[in-house]
Amino acid sequence: MKLIINNNEYEIDDKITNLLDAFLYIKENINKGLAFSYGCKSGVCGSCSVRVNGTEKLACTNNCKELDEILPLKNLPVTRDLIVDNSNIKIKLSHANAFLSEKSTKMITQSDVLDIDIESSCILCNSCYSSCPVYSVNDSFLGPFALTRVFRYVNDTKEINIQTKLDLIQTNGVWDCTLCGACNLVCPQNIDIKGDILKLQNLSVQNGHVNPMFSSASNSGFNSDFDNTFGGGFNPNGF
Ligand code: SF4
Ligand code: SF4
Repeated sequence: MKLIINNNEYEIDDKITNLLDAFLYIKENINKGLAFSYGCKSGVCGSCSVRVNGTEKLACTNNCKELDEILPLKNLPVTRDLIVDNSNIKIKLSHANAFLSEKSTKMITQSDVLDIDIESSCILCNSCYSSCPVYSVNDSFLGPFALTRVFRYVNDTKEINIQTKLDLIQTNGVWDCTLCGACNLVCPQNIDIKGDILKLQNLSVQNGHVNPMFSSASNSGFNSDFDNTFGGGFNPNGF
């Protein structure tokens, strides 16, 4: 089977089906210099994400086929071959305040845990940032996994300071997302990132913020009655 990695063709053993195994085969038998990241080999650490025929996938949990074209993730600096600089992870989570900031003493129930279970399963693989068309043109955008993690903490019964969390995602945050859903399509954990961002938009309005698109329309005299009717919280994307 032939694979194309960064425009170089590699002939690998036909018995190999898994993409990460193919990388390891190439490194051992064809090109010792091929650089790629991996860790757990079981879809948990999120470090082996690459693009296969244009779509973000974890190498360790996906099979390869004849003439698959493999490239590094997009929208992140390439360090070498298939390795990208993941320093955006720490920066974005910190800018979005995506952690428990003020803890209540309230006991949590099993159902509280289930409410945040799916968002807690994010493995920080960066596939969503690679697929996001907004992040590709504006690297100040807080971006998909940071916002879905903010939603996880806003929804956490242990968190007291929800207002501050919502305040911090108004600029370069929830309103910059076009709700295109590209991130949902590539998330290996099946997190509804777009849905979480939409819920954060609605929570923002319920907590005193205004959709800036309506704010500017209202300031320019555009349909201000309509704006008032919906409290500035209507989603222009039709969701
Ligand atoms: S939200 Fe999904 S795609 Fe994005 S980093 Fe987390 S696991 Fe990966
Ligand atoms: S839904 Fe929002 S965060 Fe997700 S890819 Fe589209 S613009 Fe980016």
